[in-house]
Amino acid sequence: MSTQIVTPSRTVDRIGDPVVLFPGTDRYQAARADNTPDHYPAAIVVARTADDIRAGVRAAAELERPLAVRATGHGSVVAADGAVLISTAAMKKIIIDPVRRVARLQPGLRWAEVIAAAEPYGLSPTSGDFPGVGVAGFTTGGGVGWLARRYGYAADNLISATMVLPDGRTVTASADEHPDLFWAVRGGSGNFGLITELEIRLVPVSRVLAGSMVWPIDRAAAVLRWFADHAEEVPDEVTLAPVLRREQSGPVLSVGFVAVGDPERAVVTLNAMRWAGRTGIAGVDGVRSEGRLIPYGRITIPGTRPLGFEMYHELSDQLIDVSVGAIVDGTANALQFHHWGGATARPEADHGPVGHRQIPFSIKIDAEPGVLDHLAWSATGAKFLNFLSDTSQTARAYRVADYYRLRELKRRYDPANVLRVNHNIPPA
Ligand SMILES: Cc1cc2nc3c(=O)[nH]c(=O)nc-3n(C[C@H](O)[C@H](O)[C@H](O)COP(=O)(O)OP(=O)(O)OC[C@H]3O[C@@H](n4cnc5c(N)ncnc54)[C@H](O)[C@@H]3O)c2cc1C
Repeated sequence: MSTQIVTPSRTVDRIGDPVVLFPGTDRYQAARADNTPDHYPAAIVVARTADDIRAGVRAAAELERPLAVRATGHGSVVAADGAVLISTAAMKKIIIDPVRRVARLQPGLRWAEVIAAAEPYGLSPTSGDFPGVGVAGFTTGGGVGWLARRYGYAADNLISATMVLPDGRTVTASADEHPDLFWAVRGGSGNFGLITELEIRLVPVSRVLAGSMVWPIDRAAAVLRWFADHAEEVPDEVTLAPVLRREQSGPVLSVGFVAVGDPERAVVTLNAMRWAGRTGIAGVDGVRSEGRLIPYGRITIPGTRPLGFEMYHELSDQLIDVSVGAIVDGTANALQFHHWGGATARPEADHGPVGHRQIPFSIKIDAEPGVLDHLAWSATGAKFLNFLSDTSQTARAYRVADYYRLRELKRRYDPANVLRVNHNIPPA
């Protein structure tokens, strides 16, 4: 990451807007320390209103600088050095309409805040495994979580996005207004405009059955083979997340599960998996299991650091053996398997460009580089944008036709590629 200090070519007086903060001022230093202590933006806007965001867009145009935007920084893949950085972290208004099951969200919100606001109405957003990430980056990057197999990606549940375009216009993109932009923003990340408000669908989920089953490592391959062969039959209401990981007692396979709706349906699946991992002909001893009906917001199944992420058409015996071997010999810390499918593979017509809906399996990989290479060998090469930090691979998050459509739309809405401090989609 560059540590060069950038001096803007114009001063605050020339810009004439007090919300635009420049290096050399206390307010800039404070804003930089709060937002991006490792980056050196040419100017920072701590936005509290959509007008502040518009001021930032004007400043970038006047200074001829790129624009960067951040809410939490969890998806910051490119340093904002030399850019006009707009922080939306203070924009946290939520309006819940429980009758329409819709929420209007300002872009500085984190999912935890939306979950808490929706819970009293028996509703939830289609948020991710970690409620600390921001709603805007998560949703525009696709957004997958425990409810995705039943209700689709977060991007599939976006109703409209109001945004300031690089040319300064404010537009609302929805199925009826600017449908091309609406298509692009449902997976195309922050490439098309600065979101000032999202309108999302909430789903009727309040309590879930959540827990985990943990097997000794010598049963891991049998359980993973069951997962590989039967994931397709698992009801959409049930999401299984098998993780090979190292505990203090040694390596184990831990299968996290979350089920919505009738818990009995989940129990049938869990029993089948439990039987697949039985340790003796007559029993299922050796497995530790725990599951409870809890509010959606209380799920605490830990995620896995995606140092690498690969997608697969199938989980072959060889792939399973390599994975178990890497945990046993300690070259991998954690390998988290995921079966996508369900509603993510059955999108509505003209869904957004969230890629690779027909590839059923993935592995999040926290391991040494040699293991990353080994697991990449039989993978498809496809990526999921929200689990990708290497910006040289951004195009791999999309199907080829979608990527070219995104590039055409980028040319229409951001021909100078002002919004490039991100997983950039260059204009065609
Ligand atoms: C611990 C952890 C767990 C995660 N778990 C999941 C998960 O379960 N599922 C999943 O799908 N992802 C997950 N992610 C990935 C996460 O969704 C992305 O990193 C996402 O970009 C974070 O969004 P943010 O707004 O918090 O990040 P930020 O760094 O603030 O923003 C990231 C990018 O989002 C875009 N963006 C943000 N705000 C705006 C705006 N107002 N207008 C336009 N564009 C904007 C910009 O391109 C920006 O560069 C996880 C990440 C972490 C760190």
